[in-house]
Amino acid sequence: MPADFDTIVNLATKRGFVFQSSEIYGGLRSAYDYGPLGVELLRNVKEQWWRSMVQLREDVVGVDTAVIQSPLVWVASGHVASFSDPLVECKVCHNRFRLDKLEDPNRCPECGAEGSFTEPRAFELMFKTHMGPVASEENLVYLRPETAQGIFINFENVRRTARKKLPFGIAQIGKSFRNEITPGQFVFRTREFEQMEMEYFCRPEEADDWFRYWLEARRDWYLELGMTEENLRLRPHAADELSHYSSGTYDVEYRFPWGWDELEGIANRTDFDLKAHAEMSGEDLRYFDPERNERFYPYVIEPAAGATRTTFAFLIDAYETETVRGDTRAVLRLDPRLAPIKVAVLPLSKKDELIAVSRELADSLRPHWMIEHDITQSIGRRYRRQDEIGTPFCVTVDFDTLDDRQVTVRERDSMAQDRIPIDRLIPYLEDRLP
Ligand code: ATP
Repeated sequence: MPADFDTIVNLATKRGFVFQSSEIYGGLRSAYDYGPLGVELLRNVKEQWWRSMVQLREDVVGVDTAVIQSPLVWVASGHVASFSDPLVECKVCHNRFRLDKLEDPNRCPECGAEGSFTEPRAFELMFKTHMGPVASEENLVYLRPETAQGIFINFENVRRTARKKLPFGIAQIGKSFRNEITPGQFVFRTREFEQMEMEYFCRPEEADDWFRYWLEARRDWYLELGMTEENLRLRPHAADELSHYSSGTYDVEYRFPWGWDELEGIANRTDFDLKAHAEMSGEDLRYFDPERNERFYPYVIEPAAGATRTTFAFLIDAYETETVRGDTRAVLRLDPRLAPIKVAVLPLSKKDELIAVSRELADSLRPHWMIEHDITQSIGRRYRRQDEIGTPFCVTVDFDTLDDRQVTVRERDSMAQDRIPIDRLIPYLEDRLP
């Protein structure tokens, strides 16, 4: 059975994936902290993205740019002028909403009042702060609302130092900040979040082909990591949905418990950004093609995904409950590459001689994988806990181990058990784990 929203939120907080931020102070709305398991899952999602987008590709390199950049970056990019959402307030219950996200623009979804909304106001989405000791207009700066602009302003630095020829891409993973009007659905929409973005620069006449290429490649990434095909779709934006810079956009959407919603946007940003930064900065950001002896602005295809949002989707997608011999078990069928803990080492009982062996075994596995050495509670409960957090393998040390130096390896999905000599355990797991 697939998961409902409350079950996943419960699992996430109960098992230490995600905590409400500032909980001991009553919590800060829309801010979340990742716990010991959540940080591993999030890191693994980012690692898989980086591996597929950078490590395995000759044509893409990475950067890690500053969160706070020159404010002119955001003037050039168009964010200062148009990065706003239409905000309306219900005059009856005083709740605020994004007009473009309302099912019925005349009816308050909170209190049901008809025609109670104020005129829409443009709500600025960028966080502002001041750089330096005095808070004045001159030292106003913004927290970046996307990682993409840090890439555009370094286009020439990267091209020159990495000696790249078109087509090539620049990738970045990092935090972005948006003062969203209506954050919600747990970590789906937060005001501080993490993005995984890549800007792929190409000749203008090749942009359509590369756009189609990246649509396929990005969809395949989710499927290859085990996301259920029926829960994933590509949806083209209608003309009135397009951002100011885009000549075409598709969303990769996931079927969340509340319906289809965006995981990633893939856009043809044309030459909008490089041109805008060239005009604002006075630097020539055109690309020189020595073979054709011509100078021009490359077009850009951008797959822009959310790391935190995608992590949430993988968590939802992997969760299942099933009945095994009359018992219900919850299992996270995460791809082993994403699983927070790869192997749990469990002594059958709390006897000192067993714990000594299992601890030594756990230590010998730690250089290879994330390991949990769990000695509390009955073995059945420990298996269930590991199933619920998605651990692909449990290794049990029992009394026979003391004599025959063999352990029982239990696989998460099939629950099949193998008896393996300790000195063959690492190659056995290496065959089955990334
Ligand atoms: P939305 O329409 O949901 O506000 P968007 O279309 O503005 O999102 P993009 O600017 O395309 O989003 O950002 C790229 C990706 O960054 C999104 O697909 C999403 O995964 C992630 N993202 C954007 N805003 C948030 C947020 N507030 N919280 C978490 N992730 C976000």
